[in-house]
Formats: sequence, C-alpha cells, structure tokens
Amino acid sequence: MNNCIFCRIAAGEIPADKIYEDENAFVIRDINPQAPVHLLAIPKKHYPAVHDIPLSEMSTVMGGLTSALCKALAITGLDKNGYRLVANSGGTAGQTVPHLHIHALGGRDLTWPPG
Ligand code: 5GP
Ligand code: ZN
Repeated sequence: MNNCIFCRIAAGEIPADKIYEDENAFVIRDINPQAPVHLLAIPKKHYPAVHDIPLSEMSTVMGGLTSALCKALAITGLDKNGYRLVANSGGTAGQTVPHLHIHALGGRDLTWPPG
C-alpha cells in the first residue's frame, strides 16, 4: 500500500533506525519512544491488524514476525531485563498506523494496568 508509512519504510522510501531485518519482517526503533527502548516489529506484507491475517497465512506471518522480534530483543538486551509487547488494534485501542506491528517496550519499570 503506497500511502502506508510502514510499507514505505519496508520499501526503503522513508528512513528508519532499523535493528533487524529479514525476508519476512523488520524491527525499527519507534520515532516517538515511550520507554528507553521502544521497538516496533513489522511484517513486510501489509495487514491492518492480526485478525486480518487469513488463517492459512497466520503461522507464517506471526512466526516470521515473532522470530524477527526475538532477534531484536537479543540485540538490544531487552530479553535479559524484561519487556512488554503491545499490539494496538483498531480505534478504541488507539492504533494510529493501520499496518500490523508489535511494540516492545523496556528499559524502565512498566506499570499495570496500562492506560
Ligand atoms: P500505534 O499507535 O499504531 O500502536 O503505533 C504506531 C507507532 O508508530 C507509534 O508509536 C509512532 O510513534 C510510530 N511511528 C509513526 N510513524 C513512524 C515513523 O515514520 N517512523 C518510526 N520509526 N515510527 C513511527
Ligand atoms: Zn502497510
């Protein structure tokens, strides 16, 4: 989708601080970090949210996405100290970029429940 920010980052049209990339997915630092480490794991293929992935593609897409995420967790050291994964989905959750992504937040104490 050519008006989608994350598709444009995937295509190299918009620069991003990329932590990890493979054929399925990539992980970048969030431009407006909400924690000392704030990563976004993004599949290269465009789906608005997790429930939009056809079931026949679910394990490939989510497996590829979480594999890339785990590489970035190890690269940044979040895997050692703790982190939170978030996937805002739809309007009431406050999703602002309608291309599936998982936030990984860490580097500080995180409160619960989230807002
Ligand atoms: P959402 O609100 O959809 O859960 O999360 C979208 C995230 O993407 C936000 O945290 C926002 O700061 C981040 N974001 C939006 N545009 C860009 C961009 O051009 N580059 C990067 N690195 N992050 C972005
Ligand atoms: Zn997209």
